[in-house]
Amino acid sequence: MGAFGRGTGRVCAVVAATSAKEMSGQLRVSLRSTPTVELRLDWLKDDTQRMLFLRLLKKFAPARTTLLATCRRREGGGKFAGDIDGELFWLMQAREAGCEWCDLEMETYRKLPEGIIREFPLPRRILLSIHDFDRTPKLPKTINVARHGLVDAVKVAAKAKTIADSVRLLKVARRSRSFVAVPMGDVGLPARILALREGSELAYAPVEEATAPGQVSLDEMLHLYRAHQLTRRTRVYGVIGDPIGHSLSPLLHNTGFATGHIDAVYLPFLVHELRDFLRAIPDFGIRGFSVTLPHKQAIMKHLKDCELLAADIGAVNTVVVRRDGSLYGCNTDYIGVLKALQKKLSIEGSRVLIFGAGGAARAAAFALARAGAFVGISARREKAAKELARAVGGEAIPRRALRTQSFDAILNATPIGMHPHEDISPLKAGELQCHVVMDLIYRPERTKLLKIAAQKRIATVSGVEMFLAQGIAQWELWTGKRAPQAAMRRSVLSALRWRP
Ligand code: NAP
Repeated sequence: MGAFGRGTGRVCAVVAATSAKEMSGQLRVSLRSTPTVELRLDWLKDDTQRMLFLRLLKKFAPARTTLLATCRRREGGGKFAGDIDGELFWLMQAREAGCEWCDLEMETYRKLPEGIIREFPLPRRILLSIHDFDRTPKLPKTINVARHGLVDAVKVAAKAKTIADSVRLLKVARRSRSFVAVPMGDVGLPARILALREGSELAYAPVEEATAPGQVSLDEMLHLYRAHQLTRRTRVYGVIGDPIGHSLSPLLHNTGFATGHIDAVYLPFLVHELRDFLRAIPDFGIRGFSVTLPHKQAIMKHLKDCELLAADIGAVNTVVVRRDGSLYGCNTDYIGVLKALQKKLSIEGSRVLIFGAGGAARAAAFALARAGAFVGISARREKAAKELARAVGGEAIPRRALRTQSFDAILNATPIGMHPHEDISPLKAGELQCHVVMDLIYRPERTKLLKIAAQKRIATVSGVEMFLAQGIAQWELWTGKRAPQAAMRRSVLSALRWRP
């Protein structure tokens, strides 16, 4: 067992608020999920609140918990305005209130005469913390706490500018003991989730407000990513994109893994530079990944093999990493379009208009043409519409013709109407001369375009259906199993309804 216990105890909830009352509330909430909690005393707005909180803590005295007190000074990246004496005073008070551990930043440790630290009645165990909010510094191969003697564990929290930075930090965790690795920043987020399986003693997660960039909430760390259950045998999947923050794919895939009892995790990778991610595939043990903007075309030159249809579309949204490390690419967006539309339309022999001529329009156009539909393309750039229409044996349709021509289905493949611009529609009511309208946008679930269509009693298909179908196809391709579709659908729909 590690220094901080096992199971959920290795996920440390970060409790940070300006008032004693809020801190106590957060502490109670945290303890429902994990017995290990960091108390950010430096976040409390003044000494009165600190004293009040510690008094409450002493009375409350939660049993079987590991409380870690932190009163980080500004010099070390915290909010405490006092000096070293002030910091040590509050940490000593924290011991009185029941804290077993304290976090002491290197900036303080260095300024104390050698060996003196143990003479203070600080919490019994000391975590020496080193922060770099700008970069991941040069790191030793291993960190041996026993050699330092005076502290019980060492934490390095460093901003990962690249995925390679976060890999370097995890490698130290793998070789060290009593070490806590905290890759910071959005690029470091997947490594933050994988830190426990690489040997980090703790993974930090805020119960409410983020206290460091790129944090994953306590709820997500425990329930979405199950960070405390991941091992070196856990298969790793993910989605690469830039931006990637609001992707629902981690929810979709992780729900599938949890429901299907598959030892796998799916992580969001913010990828600025494709090669940086590709180099990290063996280090993270990645077995497959989804690809989203802006990498759908660029990934193609890194593939060993590619499904023919994906090559024709010119975009890949799914990659399988083979045993020998080579990459196989395919496109499940086209499956998504077909599956979603088939529910309301018999595609063979139908007339379908696609509005837009970008990547998603291209996947839809190839899918529909292959399934035997006539495909019309209307786009603000006539040249793009003509090129796509020619590629699929369809026709470019000028916008003005939409009021007079009729179609079996009209698909919106532009981002017009996407959150947060929910009150605009790409097409007007008079332009919808059709039986079915499908919007590829899935956020919100019911776009303005779909509402206009419904008012005209036209059948509608939400982009959520496409999103679910393309994701489920990826899941089945990677696992070779039937996806637990009902659970996956429920999780995505409830997330969209709760937070559009
Ligand atoms: P894209 O490659 O950037 O293409 C966007 C298309 O929309 C282009 O033809 C663009 O025209 C056009 N467009 C953008 N703004 C416009 C405007 N104000 N007026 C007229 N046309 C405009 O993007 P994409 O990957 O195809 O994605 C398009 C939409 O599909 C997005 O909302 C995306 O979320 C959605 N999507 C959904 C799924 C799903 O699973 N449901 C999957 C993929 C995509 P220009 O070329 O002239 O800029």
